[in-house]
Amino acid sequence: MPDYYVLKIAVPSPVYGLFDYLLPTELAHHPVLPGMRVLVPFGRQRLTGIIIEQTNQSALPSGKLKAVLSLPDKTAIFPAHMMQLLQWAANYYLYPPGEVMQAALPVYLRQLKHAFSAPEGEPVWSANPADKATLQQLQKRAPKQYQLYQLLARHTQGISRQTLNQQTSNWRQAMQALLEKHLVNKTRHTFCWQAPVLAQTPTTLKLNPQQQKVVSAINDRHEMDNRNIHCLFGITGSGKTEVYLALSQHMLAQKRQILILVPEISLTPQLTRRFAEHLQTPIAVLHSGLNDNQRYTAWYAASTGKAHVVIGTRSSIFTPMPELGMIIVDEEHDGSYKQQDGFRYNARDLSIVRARQQHCPVILGSATPSLETLHNINEQRYQGHYLRQRPNQRPLPSIQLINLCNQPLHEGLSDALLASIKQHIKQQGQVLLFINRRGFAPLLLCHHCGWTTQCPRCDANMTYHKKHQRLLCHHCGIQRPVPVKCTNCGSSEIIAMGSGTERIENVLQTSFPQLQVSRIDRDTTRNKGKLAEKLQQAHSGESAILVGTQMLAKGHDFPGVTLVAIVDSDQALYSTDFRAAEHLAQLITQVSGRAGRADKPGEVLIQTHHPEHPLLQTLLHQGYEKFATSALAERKATGLPPCTHLILIRSDAIYRDDARQFLSDAVAQFKTGNNIQLDIFGPLPAPMERRAGRYRYQLMLQARERKPLHQLLSYRLPLLRKIKSARKVRWSIDVDPYDTF
Ligand code: ADP
Ligand code: ZN
Ligand code: ZN
Repeated sequence: MPDYYVLKIAVPSPVYGLFDYLLPTELAHHPVLPGMRVLVPFGRQRLTGIIIEQTNQSALPSGKLKAVLSLPDKTAIFPAHMMQLLQWAANYYLYPPGEVMQAALPVYLRQLKHAFSAPEGEPVWSANPADKATLQQLQKRAPKQYQLYQLLARHTQGISRQTLNQQTSNWRQAMQALLEKHLVNKTRHTFCWQAPVLAQTPTTLKLNPQQQKVVSAINDRHEMDNRNIHCLFGITGSGKTEVYLALSQHMLAQKRQILILVPEISLTPQLTRRFAEHLQTPIAVLHSGLNDNQRYTAWYAASTGKAHVVIGTRSSIFTPMPELGMIIVDEEHDGSYKQQDGFRYNARDLSIVRARQQHCPVILGSATPSLETLHNINEQRYQGHYLRQRPNQRPLPSIQLINLCNQPLHEGLSDALLASIKQHIKQQGQVLLFINRRGFAPLLLCHHCGWTTQCPRCDANMTYHKKHQRLLCHHCGIQRPVPVKCTNCGSSEIIAMGSGTERIENVLQTSFPQLQVSRIDRDTTRNKGKLAEKLQQAHSGESAILVGTQMLAKGHDFPGVTLVAIVDSDQALYSTDFRAAEHLAQLITQVSGRAGRADKPGEVLIQTHHPEHPLLQTLLHQGYEKFATSALAERKATGLPPCTHLILIRSDAIYRDDARQFLSDAVAQFKTGNNIQLDIFGPLPAPMERRAGRYRYQLMLQARERKPLHQLLSYRLPLLRKIKSARKVRWSIDVDPYDTF
């Protein structure tokens, strides 16, 4: 029996590794489990760490060890399956375990004053039975209360604040009055999203033979099968969601939980409703639009097994689910699964690891799978399933290029495009214009001397926002008034170059004054509820023309849209990012999928100065699958991911030399004493060298094999931390970087 206990603790600090603490005698009888929160002294701070293990050994003498201050919980917050995943992630992404645990902990639980116990829950109102006379009186005297009562009476399982806000306004006063009259009952619910009880159960579609084949193939796999990783490659509108629903039903019948990852918050309401209605089960929804309490409520419901389905964005991969039976990653190609700062994990990749650890299948679904995933199918690590047709023989839209060379442009729109818009509007179709640039114009230019509106802190131009009459840098966020005169030569001939969503919206509103033109981008949807409202108007057909950024490209189902146009595809064709072509192909295919979803046939127009570009030609004539095959061959020939593996080390500093020096010193660490095949590129300036007043450099490490590259890095990491020049820079490691700039 040792005379003291040591706890190895993950403390949220940039210092890598675990820290040893003593368990003081007064806590000796407290339960101690891996995954429990613990308060520890750390320098001058007190921090909440997570217990990794209990031992009786430490590299430090016991006299040097500090004691744990308190143990707030009786049980572990992270069960064993989560500890396994989080430790794996810390190791793989070369990120301090304490910071990884902190990132995975609901914000609510980061404060020790909040106990790990059942949350209060979200309020739910329901109607009490009332006799006819009471109701008649209510209708006469207080029509607002009567209406609200009727609404509540239609929701037999009660109604949440969220639903109330969606279906009515200014309801609080009337609700209070109803409560006082005992006509309404208020309780609290442990779920964020309750399935509305429908008058009739939704008609479940009969799966077509293609869909049925996929469902059986996945359901028949053995649980412990190591390669229970599936890619559902189904063209847009081919019925992937129906497949997810059937698979989920099968899992629910076995009392297992399902985790569904989605890329975007704006997608969640539609998909959530579809799942909730079909599965008739409470669903915990997790996304950044919730407050800390709501998040914790959903998280708790999932981690106690009360919620059988969790739908959420990237960070939901860290939700404990004891009975996890399946993970679905919808739109698996989407870049938002990769966290781009701090703990740079990829939730799609972690879903594979988690599914393997918890012995369950994972389904990566997309109409445009990433080249990484397709490569894994080719290498037989994943099993591919295909839906190559839309149900009911609905045709795919026809895609056509508009050659912009020598064509007059009206604020970025060609005559051909304008004519086509008119045509579709005339035939009662809706039109969707896609442009991946918000604001009015990407820069202002002096016609006299060529001066442009450069950001003083970045190597980039400031975007002109007309409505707010501001110049805004989209990279660092600073704002400036719009210059009336050129600061260089004093000329007042300043012109707006290029087009963003705001300009396209303006020109279309002028051309079609009688129609509702709706712009959907980050600027017009900043206020709460605005996006839902705009999507609703788009869905109902109230907005005849939709102009939007990539927010509009994802998953929305607008039945009335018959024409989709991509205003500018050229930018991506000549980008320095090696993934630019893949992203453009995905974008074209995805936005094309927005056209002609209902009974009306769809048309897609792409404006370009390079109609002969091989990428566009392959995509148009042979489709995404063929495009991907040739793109993969190209990656192989040029030795780029997924055929090789990358780790990027970034560094930034106020002075250029500092940023570069640290990486030069780092190179020395990799050049000596390693016998792995490694290519080192850099230090090189980042494609945008200066951003927010700091110079940015990067070092790219590339290898054919993942494992040795990874081992080398984790082995050299402590040495990198000791490099003297590191003190003058901010630096980070990005494993499997998504943006290489
Ligand atoms: P995806 O998720 O691949 O974009 P969805 O699952 O949303 O596709 O299906 C697209 C459309 O096709 C939806 O309107 C859906 O109701 C319909 N659909 C899907 N499967 C079937 C089927 N087996 N029979 C009839 N219609 C179907
Ligand atoms: Zn000038
Ligand atoms: Zn800037």
